[in-house]
Amino acid sequence: MKKVHVFNAGPCLLPQVAIDHAIEALKDFSGTGISVLSISHRTKEWDAVMDECRALWKELLHIPDTHEVVFLGGGASLQFLYVAMNYLEKKAAYLDTGVWAHKALKEAQGIGDAYAIACSKDKNYTYIPKGFEIPADLDYLHITTNNTIYGTEIHEDIDCPCPLIADMSSDIMSRPVDVSKYDLIYGGAQKNVGPAGVIFAIIRKDSLGRVSRYIPTMLDYRTHIDKLSMFNTPPVFAIYVMNETLKWLKSIGGVEAIHEINVRKAKLLYDEIDRNSLFVGTAEKEDRSLMNVCFVMAPGHEDLQDEFFAFAKERGMVGIKGHRSVGGFRASLYNACSEEDVQALVDCMKEFENLKK
Ligand SMILES: *Cc1c(COP(=O)(O)O)cnc(C)c1O
Repeated sequence: MKKVHVFNAGPCLLPQVAIDHAIEALKDFSGTGISVLSISHRTKEWDAVMDECRALWKELLHIPDTHEVVFLGGGASLQFLYVAMNYLEKKAAYLDTGVWAHKALKEAQGIGDAYAIACSKDKNYTYIPKGFEIPADLDYLHITTNNTIYGTEIHEDIDCPCPLIADMSSDIMSRPVDVSKYDLIYGGAQKNVGPAGVIFAIIRKDSLGRVSRYIPTMLDYRTHIDKLSMFNTPPVFAIYVMNETLKWLKSIGGVEAIHEINVRKAKLLYDEIDRNSLFVGTAEKEDRSLMNVCFVMAPGHEDLQDEFFAFAKERGMVGIKGHRSVGGFRASLYNACSEEDVQALVDCMKEFENLKK
């Protein structure tokens, strides 16, 4: 296979061992003689995968007994609606830190009273708003911990006087999280923990049942907690690969270990962006994401952008084009991206600078 360095923003790079095991399972799932694509989800062999996957989530994120984790289809975008359906009664606040946060807010506004408590759109979402007052009587505050498109991240689990809900699509399992601080954490798997097609939701069990509206069965988190994510056919193959990805994460030391590596990877690339005269970072330094590193050509060198894309592509860099709403470059350094991959990109930037001197 061609040697490449993959920095795709999502679906993300996955560990090779997870892919190898998935290939095996496509041919023969757990020694059943049946492909994982055809296995009945009502078998003990499949139950074992679901149980293992749930247990890995709990172990790796230290999820307390007060919470349960479920796996569903529909993408993180459908979770925007789940959130409002299950939690919005009187009033909810959203921290508007980007396109995804804004879409989550819009979905809630279709259901009830929801507003942006603070917004960083004035500077094209390059920072995380701070110092805003959070009313204690809100149904919840919704935050997007990592803003995939702009490369900003809320690095700490904030203290919140009202229930806290977080979209962690693009930084889940990249750093330790104090799950007890959240009523709900959700996200699509395809940014850091698996292939597209499955979402995770970590739910404080006693936070449900507080709204008076009728919740359609499929949109009610209680349905999926009660049936252990098997009320209907789960996204079998996506869950299989997610489980293999988490097994890999555990084997290398878990979330604490990967976090140290992620910090090193991000530092390597940000240091180069700050040093290299041809590039500048776009996000406010203190809010820089460990997962999505956004940068552009330095002022006066904008005309070199296409040339750098071609230069980097020739050296095997894949997926470094910034989101269409931001432009420039974005390198996503998810868990399966190695320090060698990041070093290769850094070397490529250095080489390009030398060429232009
Ligand atoms: C990608 C992304 C989403 C949307 O995920 P889908 O599964 O495509 O619906 C939502 N929130 C964040 C933070 C994302 O990065």
